[in-house]
Amino acid sequence: MAEPSLAVDAALNIQSARDSAAEAPTVVLKVNLLGLNHQKLVSFFESIGEKKFRAAQVLKWIHQLGVIDFDAMTNISKGLREKLKRTATLELPEIIQQLDSKDGTRKFLIRESGGSVIETVYIPEGNRGTLCVSSQVGCALDCSFCMTGKQGFSRDLDAFEIIGQVWLAAKSFGQFGEDRPRKITNVVMMGMGEPLLNFDNVVDSMNIMMHDNAYGISKRRVTLSTSGVVPALDRLGDYTDCCLAISLHAANDELRNELVPINKKYPIAMLLESAQRYIEKTPDNRRKITIEYTLIDHVNDRMEHAVELADLLRDVPVKINLIPFNPFNLSNYKRVSNNQLHRFRDYLIEQGYIVTVRTTRGDDIDAACGQLAGQVNDRTRRSERYKAKFEEEQAIKIITPE
Ligand code: SF4
Repeated sequence: MAEPSLAVDAALNIQSARDSAAEAPTVVLKVNLLGLNHQKLVSFFESIGEKKFRAAQVLKWIHQLGVIDFDAMTNISKGLREKLKRTATLELPEIIQQLDSKDGTRKFLIRESGGSVIETVYIPEGNRGTLCVSSQVGCALDCSFCMTGKQGFSRDLDAFEIIGQVWLAAKSFGQFGEDRPRKITNVVMMGMGEPLLNFDNVVDSMNIMMHDNAYGISKRRVTLSTSGVVPALDRLGDYTDCCLAISLHAANDELRNELVPINKKYPIAMLLESAQRYIEKTPDNRRKITIEYTLIDHVNDRMEHAVELADLLRDVPVKINLIPFNPFNLSNYKRVSNNQLHRFRDYLIEQGYIVTVRTTRGDDIDAACGQLAGQVNDRTRRSERYKAKFEEEQAIKIITPE
């Protein structure tokens, strides 16, 4: 697999800057090693005149053993540890709130550098533990059913901020210790943001998740979910072979243009062709694409929509994940009824599809995905504008819960 552009080179140049005037103080910007994948760690160690194998050692310390104190890295000589302290750091984002649901779901509110807040959610299920990871603060794509989209876009997360979510969650479960009461077995890049619009940082982080000297999560258990940034999807297979999910939500362009506005630029046919090319490129191209379909009452949940969806996907290797819409206060959409959900699902099963229904988890700790972080981040007052628009359109007062 190729590596994305070596942004670390720039960072390494910065950290080695020295003052030219004898009396001026030396300014050294340290490299945060947390977000460097194996290849970038190799480049880092070479740049400070050390052997390549140090990269694997440090990767293990940080991501397998959960150690972020250079002094505790006991198979590294004292001299090198001192050098690392002068040239590098290991800085993590900070958990500002942790919410535990009765069903075992754990939600983290995490403050990233600059003060922005994002969400990361851990969902246990039998022996599996799935971590839903964010890639951006907010999102620019403004899907009409998505709370995160209502906040607007603030910024991309750096690689250390993405992998930092995994590190913090693993630490909170004692995964770095001996007994490992719970473990992250699966990761979905499905939290706040569109991962393919933060390509290099997301790819670097996923490579750390899958690396044997780090978390060692199988490529079949790391999934990137996209709403359809086709040019980036076309490049993805050159850098990784993780699983792919497509946020489809509609089977015709007219409806999808409304629900997922990026569809106006990259319509359904173009997106599905790109997704198939990605799957064909993976070494075991028998893998299926996960199709995510959020069911919204009387919007995309009628039987004609099910028929259209079944016809659309007939020749595409897919499994379908139906997601009952989770209402939130800035949206007029309603949750699909259980009867309609079952009719929709049963029709697709009759048509030969593998269909799963995402059960609502962690109801007691939050409502819609992105909602808590949204309340903290909404500096653009974009959600206020949405609220005003709805009030005007419907002449109803939308009351914000306390
Ligand atoms: S659904 Fe995903 S891509 Fe769409 S606005 Fe929400 S976070 Fe962004």
